[in-house]
Amino acid sequence: MGLTGLQIFKLLPNTNCRECGQATCLAFAMKLAAGKEPLDKCPYASEEARAALGAASAPPIRSLGIGQGERAVTVGEETVFFRHEKTFVRKPALFQQVSAELLPAELAARLQRWQALRIDRAGETFRVDGVALVEASGGREASARAAAQVAGSGLPLAILAHTMEGAAAMLERSRDQRPLLVPPAGADLEPCLELCRGASVSLCIGGSDLESLAERAAQATRAGVVDLILEAPGSSLAELHQSLSQIRRGALERAHPGLGHPVLLRVGPGQLERAVLGIAKFASVIILADEGGESWLPLWTMRQNIYTDPQKPLRMDPGVYPIGEPDHRSPLLCTTNFSLTYFTVATELEGTGVPAHLAVVDAEGMSVLTAWSAGKFSGERVARALREMGATEKVDHRTVIIPGYVAVISGELEDALGGGWRVLTGPQEASDINAFYREVWERL
Ligand code: SF4
Repeated sequence: MGLTGLQIFKLLPNTNCRECGQATCLAFAMKLAAGKEPLDKCPYASEEARAALGAASAPPIRSLGIGQGERAVTVGEETVFFRHEKTFVRKPALFQQVSAELLPAELAARLQRWQALRIDRAGETFRVDGVALVEASGGREASARAAAQVAGSGLPLAILAHTMEGAAAMLERSRDQRPLLVPPAGADLEPCLELCRGASVSLCIGGSDLESLAERAAQATRAGVVDLILEAPGSSLAELHQSLSQIRRGALERAHPGLGHPVLLRVGPGQLERAVLGIAKFASVIILADEGGESWLPLWTMRQNIYTDPQKPLRMDPGVYPIGEPDHRSPLLCTTNFSLTYFTVATELEGTGVPAHLAVVDAEGMSVLTAWSAGKFSGERVARALREMGATEKVDHRTVIIPGYVAVISGELEDALGGGWRVLTGPQEASDINAFYREVWERL
């Protein structure tokens, strides 16, 4: 657990010199405890204080990186049991399982498909996060070649080994891509550590129960292999639920040093309920045997709903978004950058079949009425935003349509835009846009 503000205060010099930007050491300690200031800002903190604060402020669950470059994934660093306590930090990475027994051409085609797959939803892009390659039975060379193929694709690689010889051969051809090694079931720890020690390879630790799991992880750490992921034991859903929860609870309470690592979950064919449980209950890497949208889409969507920060509204980047292929005669509408508002309006606009420019104004992620009452969607702010994002250059009819709920800003906006601009008050509900087009816009 982290230190309280008062505990931190006792470690500071208490000179109130203000060099950290705070009026007193106590004020700085409170900011530090809340994670709003780094300790580096106090040049006078002693080594003893740095050591104590450093250890206390380290997340109870280590981070773990798999892969290199743009597609690399990082998991871990979680600090809470329930999302509403603060937030979940790293969403679970979903890895697609594939066999090394596939012919190279078939594997290449699948890798190409997974690399290219992108689905945009509510400000997030769903992608295949990585590939879990199952060692081919009796084909060490085929396995090694397949590992090199996956590593070369840029997708993060997890190696699911059946033999230690196969594991070594697959690592040999992929270790510069920071793969994750999942050793054969029941493998001795020491040979696994040998394969990972001194290399950028993370290791999956298994165990028949939590005690042996934690002890093996601690043993690996003592042996110098610290990039670990724990495979949650439990064959039934109830057992799995229990072990996932106990690992998270034990890590947060620092009950055992071996529990402070991310968690891996394997999901066999048709076992989607295990994946659902893993997303809801703290799995960090989930390996899915099933392929295809009917399995992945609901999981991505569920993950998105859980792994958003409840303290931050989902927001769009401000800018002018085209609906269809608009030109200089198309309607120009504006709204706020609250994602839900944007997607509701954009969907209704698309449904009209009328190409349009939709200007999304930065209102700190608030909905229209909330933004207006907070002073974030005033006529002056909207006019400035429309000019800065180039919306006023997109059309030559000099007309902008504002949401019906903020009709009150129309005069101020018209004045702030100047130059003969006209402000039309649109409907209050996005579902009435079609009727508005017919009854107002088309009669102008
Ligand atoms: Fe206190 Fe350090 Fe801030 Fe000075 S810089 S006021 S010693 S916390």
